[in-house]
Amino acid sequence: MNRIVSATGSQLRCKGWRQEGILRMLENTLANAERQEDLVIYGGIGKAARDWPSLHGIVDELKQLEEHESLIVQSGRAIAVMRTTVAAPMVLIANANVVPRAATPEQFFELSDAGLTMHGQYTAGSWAYIGGQGIVQGTFETFAAAAERHFGGDLTGRIVFTAGIGGMGQAQGRAVRMNGGVALIADVDADRIRDRIDTGAVDELAASIPAAWERAAKAAAMHTPLVVAVAANAADVAEWLLAEGRIPDLATDQTSAHDLLRGYVPSGHDAASAAVLRDTDPERYRELSALTLTRHVDALLGLAKAGSVVFEYGNDLRMAAQRIGHTHAMDIPGFVPEFIRPSFAVGRGPFRWVCLSGELADRDVLDTAARALFPTDQKLATWLEKAGGETPVEGLPARICWLGHGQRALMAARINELVASGELAGPVAITRDHLDSGSCAYPTRETELMPDGSDAIADWPYLNAMLNVAGGADLVAVHQNAGVIGGSASAGMTVVLDGSELSAQRAAICFENDPAIGVIRHLTAGVPESAAYLPTSGINAVVGWQ
Ligand code: NAD
Repeated sequence: MNRIVSATGSQLRCKGWRQEGILRMLENTLANAERQEDLVIYGGIGKAARDWPSLHGIVDELKQLEEHESLIVQSGRAIAVMRTTVAAPMVLIANANVVPRAATPEQFFELSDAGLTMHGQYTAGSWAYIGGQGIVQGTFETFAAAAERHFGGDLTGRIVFTAGIGGMGQAQGRAVRMNGGVALIADVDADRIRDRIDTGAVDELAASIPAAWERAAKAAAMHTPLVVAVAANAADVAEWLLAEGRIPDLATDQTSAHDLLRGYVPSGHDAASAAVLRDTDPERYRELSALTLTRHVDALLGLAKAGSVVFEYGNDLRMAAQRIGHTHAMDIPGFVPEFIRPSFAVGRGPFRWVCLSGELADRDVLDTAARALFPTDQKLATWLEKAGGETPVEGLPARICWLGHGQRALMAARINELVASGELAGPVAITRDHLDSGSCAYPTRETELMPDGSDAIADWPYLNAMLNVAGGADLVAVHQNAGVIGGSASAGMTVVLDGSELSAQRAAICFENDPAIGVIRHLTAGVPESAAYLPTSGINAVVGWQ
């Protein structure tokens, strides 16, 4: 079968651009899939549709959908077309939602094996995936915030030690390089490292751990951005660094520590021998993984004591260690409370646009428009300047571009004008990750350590989704169980800008309210940056609830 890619050009297969835009977003999500044959987009199990007949059903319905109708999608399967209004969303999606008692891995996978639900991760099931660049900017933002907090603004002359160059982890080297630093990355899979050298995510493969450190230290001393990888276990490298007193400036991890059998690799094994042990003796595999993870976390804590800035970057390393009895793993801070919360507190997060025409020139026009609209936003300028080299085009030309409350509605309005005036070759879809200011409850990541203890309160993503429905976003999705099963609730949204007055209105309302509810979420939790921002934000918060 031919690989699915997104349609491009001006020919419509649907009854309007709103439906066509959503269909192209679905196709583009599939075009970037890790395993398109299984409809798995990313994150090992995150799918765009429940199965192939369901996908065909969704596509057929999108082609027939009228402006005053909404397509209802339940866990990756089209189940109804309902009469709504022209101001209502074209597509409403609910994925992987289960009652709290059923939110255990055993029960959830039993339900999905029975064909009753589908794991949608964040942007897989809400058809907003744009390939690897999404994680490149999230990682860039995280390291940029760490640099700002600890190293005077950038990572020039600094060494970052981390591990894992998988689907998501490969962004780490790029992000460190973009911030001017040197990344020393361990991965047990030498072939994978070589592949990453071919794609530019890694610069060099060192022959040994000492050689890797020496190369990293030399580049840092010369203020040369570099990504050096070594085929070794993260625990072994971390222990060596500590024992030798080679203390990196920053240390984190992106191995698949969340899964001690199918993701994390025990010390003493490379990728191939780990695969054999996994099949022949999974119990032994788990035991060895647990021993390695304990050593890994101990060594990271040791590096922190010795002066490294250590944090968890969302791979469940700390909870995984806690589950096997580690008592101090949670002493490692999480990346959101440590670095990203001030951005989320003012509604700043992973806004992104996708050029539905398929024309690369449209992306350039939009990069220029963003620079012109926000000339004093230095982070945005750095990102746009360096993103070209670090984010190859994957499917439809797209740009992730973190923008704040206020900025998002302005950018959306400008995009709609550019579509209307014909300066762009076609309409543009605007969407975002669920990892955003007001659209996620995830107590070990996005909402960890909220000042008022509201980490597990999941009202916010539902309010966010309802607001986007009320505002007439073209697609609204509510998900649970992304990342760790039982760990999260989240919401996604997309608006297709076709240059019309109606899309200008939708965009103005949605891109005001979507980040505004994020500001409010942080305000109610007592995050100081939200309180400081509120008076000039124009957000009509009901004060005095305390
Ligand atoms: P992946 O499975 O594609 O890659 C993991 C890599 O780690 C592999 O290359 C593997 O060889 C290597 N590895 C495993 N154990 C190792 C060890 N002990 N030492 C050295 N190398 C080892 O996973 P991915 O898609 O890159 O995701 C990595 C982790 O990040 C996952 O836990 C994922 O859930 C998490 N994640 C975080 C965010 C975020 O926002 N921070 C976003 C998405 C995913």
